Amino acid sequence: MSLPDIVPPGVVTGDNLLALLTHAKDNGYAIPAFNCTSSSTANAAMEAARKFNSPVMIQVSNGGGAFYAGKGIKDPNNCAAGAVALAMHVRTMAPYYGIPVVLHSDHCAKKLLPWFDGMIAADEEYFKQYGEPLYSSHMLDLSEEPDEDNIAICAQYFERLVKMKIWLEMEIGITGGEEDGVNNEDVDPEKLYTSPEQVYAVYERLSKIGNMFSIAAAFGNVHGVYKPGNVTLQPERLGKHQAYAKEKLGSDSDKPIFLVMHGGSGSTDDEIKTAVENGVVKMNIDTDTQWAYWNGLREFEKDKHDYLQGQIGNPTGADKPNKKFYDPRVWVRKAEEAMIERCATSMEKLLCKGKYEAKVPEPGSLPLYGFKPKATGPVGMVKDALGL
Ligand SMILES: [Zn+2]
Repeated sequence: MSLPDIVPPGVVTGDNLLALLTHAKDNGYAIPAFNCTSSSTANAAMEAARKFNSPVMIQVSNGGGAFYAGKGIKDPNNCAAGAVALAMHVRTMAPYYGIPVVLHSDHCAKKLLPWFDGMIAADEEYFKQYGEPLYSSHMLDLSEEPDEDNIAICAQYFERLVKMKIWLEMEIGITGGEEDGVNNEDVDPEKLYTSPEQVYAVYERLSKIGNMFSIAAAFGNVHGVYKPGNVTLQPERLGKHQAYAKEKLGSDSDKPIFLVMHGGSGSTDDEIKTAVENGVVKMNIDTDTQWAYWNGLREFEKDKHDYLQGQIGNPTGADKPNKKFYDPRVWVRKAEEAMIERCATSMEKLLCKGKYEAKVPEPGSLPLYGFKPKATGPVGMVKDALGL
């Protein structure tokens, strides 16, 4: 079956999300997860998915949530509130793009659990109202803790998430480099490779609770773009995790585990391909789209420099107005356009480009504003069935 027959457009959660990621795993492609920190970057990711006919993930980090909330907000709950605001934006606009969008939150270390708790509280509220969670998926990253604690805390949260059919992504082993304030630049190199036993320990524990989870196993990944160092990316190690789990489980599947890839900036196409062949269904992209967004603006400024030095006065005349150059809608759009093109590169590398022909709704066919709230309870279900 082709993907559009299985998964509806809009934000996908629960069974639809499981169907999407199973289709990706079975058909050898992965979905790019773009870190978004603004409505502008979220729109660019969705527009890229529509333009290049692909499912897409929009993910927000703790710092991204704080930024979305506004840097002027110093409240301790700013990260959760900002993450909720971004999710509401995506929920409202995704139906217009006609492609499946997975809403996901990125790394959550132990010290950031209050942020996680805030997002789950929002999921639970949303679930009460609409019968599905606000977010599709969340990541817990307790890889800095001893494995036992890491797995135990994940299992505890997973119990709560499965009630709403929310996906859990967890990390075991360490991703090198520095991201969002967590610095792993000086860690012991062997720790940058997760073992098959570690991965299986996670699978064994979490699969007792539910089947909607994925594992970020470290295979020499580094956040950000660095000059080559001592650690090499070894995506073939992921195949060993799958083989080990297959044997332990006596499974028919060659890839029983959903894996995800972090720190892929600067990886070669072959490395990415090997990772996807070994069961990676999602790859994070942050650094490369950050650069693209900036570069779009940089090139615009270079091109129009002489039109951007004052409100009035440019090479065509000392009294000529420059409003159509410095209006943020002009230069932010240039950044978006560059990001959209970079998103396409990721979709190509992950082989998901063209997998979902966008079902853009007939103009004016959606409810007066974006999403149609789902009715809940027995009366609501009857109303839904009758199309009321
Ligand atoms: Zn990461």
